[in-house]
Amino acid sequence: MSEQYEVVIIGGGAAGLNAALVLGRSKRNVLVLDENKARNNVTKASHGYLTRDGVKPEEFKGIGISEINAYPSVTYKESKVTSLYKEEGLFHIQGDERHYTAKRVIVATGMKDSLPNIKGIHDVYGTTVFHCPYCDGWERREEPLAVFGNDPGLMDYVKLIYNWSQDLIVFTNGPAQISEDEKKDLKLHSVKLIEEPLRELVSVNGDLKEVIGASGEVYDRSGGFILDTSEAQSFPLHEYFDIEFTEMGGYYTKEGCETLVEGLYVIGDSRHGFSGLLKAASEGYELAVALNHELAVNEWGKRG
Ligand SMILES: Cc1cc2nc3c(=O)[nH]c(=O)nc-3n(C[C@H](O)[C@H](O)[C@H](O)COP(=O)(O)OP(=O)(O)OC[C@H]3O[C@@H](n4cnc5c(N)ncnc54)[C@H](O)[C@@H]3O)c2cc1C
Repeated sequence: MSEQYEVVIIGGGAAGLNAALVLGRSKRNVLVLDENKARNNVTKASHGYLTRDGVKPEEFKGIGISEINAYPSVTYKESKVTSLYKEEGLFHIQGDERHYTAKRVIVATGMKDSLPNIKGIHDVYGTTVFHCPYCDGWERREEPLAVFGNDPGLMDYVKLIYNWSQDLIVFTNGPAQISEDEKKDLKLHSVKLIEEPLRELVSVNGDLKEVIGASGEVYDRSGGFILDTSEAQSFPLHEYFDIEFTEMGGYYTKEGCETLVEGLYVIGDSRHGFSGLLKAASEGYELAVALNHELAVNEWGKRG
């Protein structure tokens, strides 16, 4: 037996929950299936979302779930989606224990990060070492910071982090992939470059204390930023449908968030690689408005 909904939303982060909120307020019969493992769960606080600056991720989510639960046509279930296919115009969605169908599916499953292979990095990621300076740069301002990274975006990233602290050491964990002129540029800005492989990061209760090189050299640092967290899609939509990736690792959609599969939409981090909470939520809002409008116009046509 399958349960039928007008819209099934896979993923209950800022993007999926905001879509559910607006669809619920539009009296739409909506199911949210959410594994509840958002990528920012590692942090103690989220920033930059007006009225929620500094809120814990689980508190943000708790408020979201209680708000959508106020609308009787919305159902939230903690459940991992394990398969998705379309047959005769209807999507079939398999949750942990049940099977669901809907004419429209919104994928809002976000991304997952893989940190560089440096001993001790998992102990500090989300507490004193981060990826996004707009999310966590203010809390680390003027501190002695480490920048970890070694890909073509490195110089640009260093210039950005320098905005929050000028006491920077760049660790490339191997020969730096930047030009001699760029090395000189770092020196000119008193930014140290350490190319030797790293042995480990030493921390106490998540607070970074030292970065130790393979030679045993110790660098005192109290926080840092990681350029590349090798993010990947949390939900393998591309295994179920022929969907291309964007340069940022997001799923390609047309304007309006619909993929090339009719009725299948992608919003939030899954679409952008990294959208931030506010953009994810606003995309959920915008898509819900567009979907409800389309449904309302269709229904009007059928009743006339
Ligand atoms: C360390 C860190 C700190 C951050 N700090 C900030 C910050 O301060 N401010 C800010 O604006 N942004 C911050 N971000 C970015 C922010 O977390 C994301 O941009 C935002 O969460 C994206 O929202 P989303 O709804 O697209 O995805 P998510 O919030 O990741 O939600 C996706 C949901 O889908 C679920 N899901 C995945 N696969 C399945 C499946 N198969 N079945 C069912 N459910 C599934 C997940 O478990 C999750 O609950 C931070 C990110 C990180 C990594």
